[in-house]
Order: sequence, then C-alpha cells, then structure tokens
Amino acid sequence: MKKTLNDIKDLINKADCILIGAGSGLSSSAGLEYSGKNFESNYKDFIDKYNFEDLYSASFYPFNTQEEKWAFWARLIKLNRFNKEPLKLYCDIYNLVKDKEYFVITTNVDGQFEKAGFNKENIFATQGDYVYLQCEKDCHNKLYYNEELVEKWLVNTNDCKIPSDLVMKCPICKGNMDMNLRKDAYFVQDENWYKQDKRYSEFLDRNKNKNVLLLEFGVGFNTPGIIRFPFEQMILDNKNWTLARFNKDTRSFYNLEDRIIEIQEDIKKFIEEKEI
Ligand SMILES: [Zn+2]
Repeated sequence: MKKTLNDIKDLINKADCILIGAGSGLSSSAGLEYSGKNFESNYKDFIDKYNFEDLYSASFYPFNTQEEKWAFWARLIKLNRFNKEPLKLYCDIYNLVKDKEYFVITTNVDGQFEKAGFNKENIFATQGDYVYLQCEKDCHNKLYYNEELVEKWLVNTNDCKIPSDLVMKCPICKGNMDMNLRKDAYFVQDENWYKQDKRYSEFLDRNKNKNVLLLEFGVGFNTPGIIRFPFEQMILDNKNWTLARFNKDTRSFYNLEDRIIEIQEDIKKFIEEKEI
C-alpha cells in the first residue's frame, strides 16, 4: 500500500529514536544551488571561460593557478553554504524528529542539517564541509574555517581570478591549500571527525535493543558503503529496527524489500504533503 506522510509520522512516534542517513538526493530535492538549477546564471563568466557544462564536473576542474581555483570555489562556497537561510525541506525534516533522540549521518557537505536546527553534536558529516580548507597534502590534521576568506575572495575577484596576495598557503609546509572534501587520499579527518565517528558508534550501540527508525533520504550508489549498505546490514542484525528508504531506486543489496518501507516519489513533495 502507498505510504503517506502520516504513516511516517506514526512510525516516528512509535520509535524510541531516529537514525537519519542522507545523501545528495536530499539536497537536490530540497533545491540546493548545487543541483545546478541556476548554474548558467550564477557561473556565466566561468562557463564562458572554461566551457563548464555542469557544476558537478566543474568542481573537479584542474585549474592551472590557485588564483583561478579559489575564485571559482569562493562563489560555490558562498552559494551553497553561506546563504544564511536553511532549505525548507531540511527544516521540515527537523520538525518531524526534533522531539526524539536522533542522530544524522550524511555524505552531504552543505551543512544544511546544522542550519535547520539539528544539534551538531548529533551530526556526522563523513565527507567534509564547504566551510573548511585543509593542506592539499594532508601534512597536518587541522581544518581552517573559510568564511572571512571567502568574502574577501568574492569582492576581489576579477576576470575569474583572485589576487595572488589573497591565496592562502599551508601554514606548516607552505604548499597549496584545498577544500576539505573527500576526493582523494589526502582528505583530512580532524579531531572533530573522529569524535563524531565515535558518537555515531555509541548511538548505534546504546540503541541496539530498542525500536529504531532509520530514515534514509536520497542515498544513491556513489558511496553506498557509507550509509546505504550499512543501513541494510543494521536491519538484518536488529529485528526491531525499521528502514524507510526515500529514493527512486529502492532495491536492496540483501533482498530486504519486505523489511524496507519504500518511498519512491520526490522527497520534498512527499514531506510537504498536506495532512489528511
Ligand atoms: Zn601542509
């Protein structure tokens, strides 16, 4: 039978606690700029210069100079992270679970859970966050909050470049800096990363005999080993746990279809459904 928002609310009410797993499909549905909706207007000068076709591939472009690289990233960070208003879909999800004990594991790097009101102590963002820079070669274990620098880069961008004297160098090895986004072997996991990893394990241990509802939003097959497959394993291991999978593709690795509540329609449309 087709599930409704009220069915999900019932499951939330009955659960002892909620584990949320989120992937890029959630932010796309929520309307984040990264989905490319306004790509052509927001990045026209970069598109003209580098023939970018979409934002995702543009974010892997090997810029020749640091001046070009940071001009591009400053705009991307600003649009995706420092626009202050949280996306409504994240706020709606927060309102659904805020009175319960909850934990969030996400591969998204846009900070939307924190902005929407989720306690950051209960969020594990495994793949980084747009707000941090790191040494490009992982020479030390520290992240650098970039808001002030991004603002400077934005106002001083000219012809898709920032001035050379605004390029940040690694304070330790004097090499280049990079975004703290997991894309190669040099991703920095700082003290806070390990702390949140531990809090996630503790949440799972503490609740293993309880009635846990797993809400999986928009987790595809780019990195299924972080959320999608482990969530299925948890359902296998814990008979009292329930998984609601919000995704067009609801197939399961372990043939668990009868144990998974499948919601294939658009997440935003589903969550915003009027109560009957
Ligand atoms: Zn360094």
